Amino acid sequence: MTSDVEFKAWRVEELDGNYKGTEQTLSTADLPAGEVLIKVSHSSLNYKDALSASGNKGVSRSFPHTPGIDAAGEVVESATGTPAVGSQVIVTGYDLGMNTAGGFGEYIRVPAAWCVPMPSGWGAQAAMIYGTAGLTAGLCVQKLLTMGARPEQGRVAVSGASGAVGSVAVELLAKLGFDVVAISGKADHAESLKALGATQVLGRDALAEDRKPMLKPAFANAVDTVGGLPLAELLKQIKPGGSVSCCGLVAGPQLQTTVLPFILRGVNLLGVDSVEIPLADKEAVWEKFAGDWKCEKTEASAKRIGRADLERALNAFLKGESSGKIILDHA
Ligand code: NDP
Repeated sequence: MTSDVEFKAWRVEELDGNYKGTEQTLSTADLPAGEVLIKVSHSSLNYKDALSASGNKGVSRSFPHTPGIDAAGEVVESATGTPAVGSQVIVTGYDLGMNTAGGFGEYIRVPAAWCVPMPSGWGAQAAMIYGTAGLTAGLCVQKLLTMGARPEQGRVAVSGASGAVGSVAVELLAKLGFDVVAISGKADHAESLKALGATQVLGRDALAEDRKPMLKPAFANAVDTVGGLPLAELLKQIKPGGSVSCCGLVAGPQLQTTVLPFILRGVNLLGVDSVEIPLADKEAVWEKFAGDWKCEKTEASAKRIGRADLERALNAFLKGESSGKIILDHA
């Protein structure tokens, strides 16, 4: 057991109902009990971090708190021996950054069962470019493939395409040979979505409310990152036997649909969770991103920031002004 060390963390405090994050010096003695102490080199910014940092009690109940639902770095203490001291690991999801001090600090202490070994030949910076958003996109695509989705079946739609999850889904599906239709509310992102590999970019009106119970089948399969009414409209437009991976709710948590897409066309609605799933499922997707699924364009366009830039970057998330992947580099 090494002695306690001091480290820097971007910690959020509550004062009279207002929440403010600042850089503070903490000690590893301040971290929760756990099996594995990790020196975090990189984290990744997610909408959930912005919610945590702004005091959303559905994400983080008590303050002061260090957000950061993603972290990657080197194991410096390991009570279980696995992962081994000196090895690199990725930690995403479970309770990290929610009510367990997260990746916006230079150290985290977590259960061994949360740690994915870093794929060989890969590093923390690359992993955190994908982060939870990329992992979720990978899980969505994996579910479609497991259901038998193939490029020759026809076009695959991605909703919320310019978002963190959607953009990785667009690039990955295009890389796998699918004809990708990006559905986006941002007309000025059409060229960048085409650069990621979309063959067509449609506005959100492609999924606008239509009173007809079923519509002409337009897509063989889809990744839906928005939920709500657009998902209900998407289900009406899926070809017989097709599947929709559903992971998000930015357009609302309600899903008002009929059983018709399911019983007339055999459409499959596939739920995707990236947080509480078995570690092996996460590991399988990380291994793919480090190999055949490498998304070169996403990796090339990621922005790197330091702790001093966190407040501005998280506010942009809350205002819906964030785009592309942002990683936090603790160096
Ligand atoms: P982002 O904010 O980066 O992107 C969401 C995108 O959705 C936006 O860029 C926008 O894309 C579109 N959008 C925003 N508001 C609306 C609206 N009212 N109606 C329709 N489209 C809208 O978020 P992420 O990509 O990081 O996350 C997407 C969703 O996935 C979120 O709901 C998030 O909570 C969820 N998520 C779930 C996970 C899981 O484990 N299931 C893990 C990670 C995220 P455009 O302008 O191109 O239309």
